[in-house]
Amino acid sequence: MNEKGFIFNIQRFSLHDGPGIRTTVFFKGCPLRCMWCQNPEGISLNKTLFCNSNKCLDCRSCEKVCPEHAVSFGEFGPLINRDRCTLCLECVEACPVETLEAAGREVSVPELVEDILKDRVIFEESGGGATFSGGEPLFQPEFLVALLKALKNLDIHTTVETSGYSPWTVLEETAAWTDLFLYDLKLVDEEKSKHYTGTTNTLILDNLKALAEKGSNIQVRMPLIPSINDDYVNLQQTAAVLIKAGIDELDLIPYHKLGTAKYANLGLDYKLPHIKEPSTDQCFQAKSILKRYGIAAKSEV
Ligand code: SF4
Ligand code: SF4
Repeated sequence: MNEKGFIFNIQRFSLHDGPGIRTTVFFKGCPLRCMWCQNPEGISLNKTLFCNSNKCLDCRSCEKVCPEHAVSFGEFGPLINRDRCTLCLECVEACPVETLEAAGREVSVPELVEDILKDRVIFEESGGGATFSGGEPLFQPEFLVALLKALKNLDIHTTVETSGYSPWTVLEETAAWTDLFLYDLKLVDEEKSKHYTGTTNTLILDNLKALAEKGSNIQVRMPLIPSINDDYVNLQQTAAVLIKAGIDELDLIPYHKLGTAKYANLGLDYKLPHIKEPSTDQCFQAKSILKRYGIAAKSEV
């Protein structure tokens, strides 16, 4: 119970992260580098510094307090030299209007459980519970398992949203304490997977099969991203992977761009600015292909 972990957000009243109304905790740290990631502040295990220049008052307090001389000013406000920045966060303290903000804080298992339990009545009335997302929750395995055990003892339903990219032993131990996995499949083709997510997917596919054979409760999800994974071949291969694992349902999550503004605020490039959100027709077409290969797919669009 003494484990501590790093999280960057707690979202209450979530309706899409498992059954009922849920409290979703976002873990820091992820081994993947999906180009479409809408939570880029969750990638690093360390704290992350946001700089939203639109809010800046030009008071220059940040520049004055920065011990590394990492803040300068350009045409559109403050600029952070990320190579110099040591994430001391003195500028965040000094900023009067939250132009500069930090994502990421350390929290202990008892603290987080106490926070989650504030929503217990809502869980009981809605059939909900706690969901661990990220980042990648399996990237902090001891913290995750300690949380899951504590919540199991309190009879709180738990869901883990994962890419499945972790050693099998970690996933196996996690499965012993988890009520539901939201398992995110992205691409089946090995080379495309490496290109778009930064990792091979062999482990992800093997782990899905092993988890299904173990009898775990799994809901597989796939972001539907036009011109990246909505082609006939990938959908056919995805269906084959699922059928092999004894799974015949898939949730399609239409790609969206809600988090892309974060990239500029973190000093990062968003690599897919040209990709559009899928139309209703594109979603329908993807579902039809999956159905042809034995998979009942659903999406909100
Ligand atoms: S976090 Fe610290 S080092 Fe980085 S810009 Fe702010 S004051 Fe400077
Ligand atoms: S402290 Fe905040 S408001 Fe003042 S110049 Fe820096 S970023 Fe702008």
